[in-house]
Amino acid sequence: MSRLTNRRKTDKNSVFVLSLVIVTTIIIISFFIFAIKKVESVYSDQMYQNALETRKAYLKDTVNNLITDLENQQDEYTELFANETEEVRVLMQTYLDTHEVTASQLATYLEETSGMRELSYVVYDTATGEDYGTGNISRDSADDKLLCKAEVNKGTLHVIFGVSREYMNAVIRNAFALRLKTYDYEDGSYVWVDTVTGEGEEAHFKREIHPGYPESEGQVFGTDTKDEDGNKYYLEIANGLEEEGEVFVAYFYREKKSDLISKKISYVKYYPEYNWAIGMGVPSHAIVHFVQDMQAENRPMIIRFIVMVSAFFAIVFVLCMVFILQNDRKHFKKRVRALRHDVEVDELTGASTRKYGARLLEEAYLDFKDGNESTVLMLLDVDKFKSVNDTYGHEAGDEVLKKVVSTMKKNIRSSDYLIRWGGDEFVGIFPNLTRSELEAVAKKLLFAVSDLRVNSNGQVVKVTVSLGFTYFHNDDEGYQDALNRADEGLYESKEGGRNQFNITI
Ligand code: GH3
Ligand code: MG
Repeated sequence: MSRLTNRRKTDKNSVFVLSLVIVTTIIIISFFIFAIKKVESVYSDQMYQNALETRKAYLKDTVNNLITDLENQQDEYTELFANETEEVRVLMQTYLDTHEVTASQLATYLEETSGMRELSYVVYDTATGEDYGTGNISRDSADDKLLCKAEVNKGTLHVIFGVSREYMNAVIRNAFALRLKTYDYEDGSYVWVDTVTGEGEEAHFKREIHPGYPESEGQVFGTDTKDEDGNKYYLEIANGLEEEGEVFVAYFYREKKSDLISKKISYVKYYPEYNWAIGMGVPSHAIVHFVQDMQAENRPMIIRFIVMVSAFFAIVFVLCMVFILQNDRKHFKKRVRALRHDVEVDELTGASTRKYGARLLEEAYLDFKDGNESTVLMLLDVDKFKSVNDTYGHEAGDEVLKKVVSTMKKNIRSSDYLIRWGGDEFVGIFPNLTRSELEAVAKKLLFAVSDLRVNSNGQVVKVTVSLGFTYFHNDDEGYQDALNRADEGLYESKEGGRNQFNITI
């Protein structure tokens, strides 16, 4: 009976699962886009801050390196001038020891001698009381003004000479300016040197050196000087230098030969030896470009990371869904089985219900129409059942019905059906039962039932059944025609004295 097992199932769950998959996909894609944007913005803010800190450190280090260079140069020049002064002293003393000269002759000699122009000197004769010299030092100021001082004497003739601090400073400044001009600055960064006069609000900054913007050299900036945004950035510098000796400052500046106003970030340090403010700045767009480059470089990594996170969540979600659906399916199957049992199985006897049986009969009829001609239909009715109820009680009657069914089931095949058609009447469907086998089966069934002893409240009830058998006929219009024929056989069995069978061909 292929029709009995071949049931078509429509899986409404698949529509639900499909919608769920679509919704989940949309959620995951939205999450994906949102996450990339969020991570990038957090990441780029962080990166900007890091880049800014790195740039600030770079500015500070570079300025401090420049100052170290400056101090090294000072040391070198100090040594150089000291040696030179000592050489001149030896030469001059030898000259004085071997020549008779006056103070004025000696002054002329010193003035004309090449290689000594960096020397300041004063020549005087205590006998005449007259002074000759470069004019920038005197007997009294020599100690203060000379960086390296030497003296030679002959009799009343005295010479004080050396390299003045002023000269040394001029040399150092020039050397430093040259050094700044040749320095290679990245990203449009630049350096400048201002000379600071006054303090606090009164401070003025005279631009000494600015290799990247030479037009500004000589200009004086006060604490009320404003940037393109109206900020008094020189006031900020003045306060910072006064309090800490160094300061980071941001200001807006118009780019040369363009209308572009860009933000600059600078570090300025006070160098007290020369009253210098040494500054170095970098345009902030250099930092922004750096961040953008880094961002472009890191985007694939971020995307990879988010893909992995999304995939992880998608897998977890799918696994959860599969688990939930499977659980649900199991539960559903269990409920369907229970419902089917309720619909298909008679509660009292365990035979098939009439409702289910009608479908089985219809399918048996259709199978017959398809060419399966050896299905037997049986009608069974318990003999004198009313008197069982009357004699032993309704409960005993129920017990008898149960026992009749279980006995019948034991004696038919698992592919056969027994249907409770109503009251004490049952229909049997026996597929593939040939005519030659039928009689023996009928006898066996009668015997099995009549052999039955049903115990009820200490009493033993005996029971028999009457049977009517038939096969489908080609002119049957439905299973009911065949059932009517079986009923005729049953009627004959009853008429014939019960506990017997009749086959109506
Ligand atoms: P016959 O040999 O001619 O069939 O006599 P009968 O007494 O068996 O007559 P019939 O088949 O017409 O009687 C059926 C009786 O079965 C009627 C009803 O009281 C009883 N019956 C129907 N359903 C049940 C049931 O579920 N339990 C019990 N105990 N009795 C039932
Ligand atoms: Mg009966």
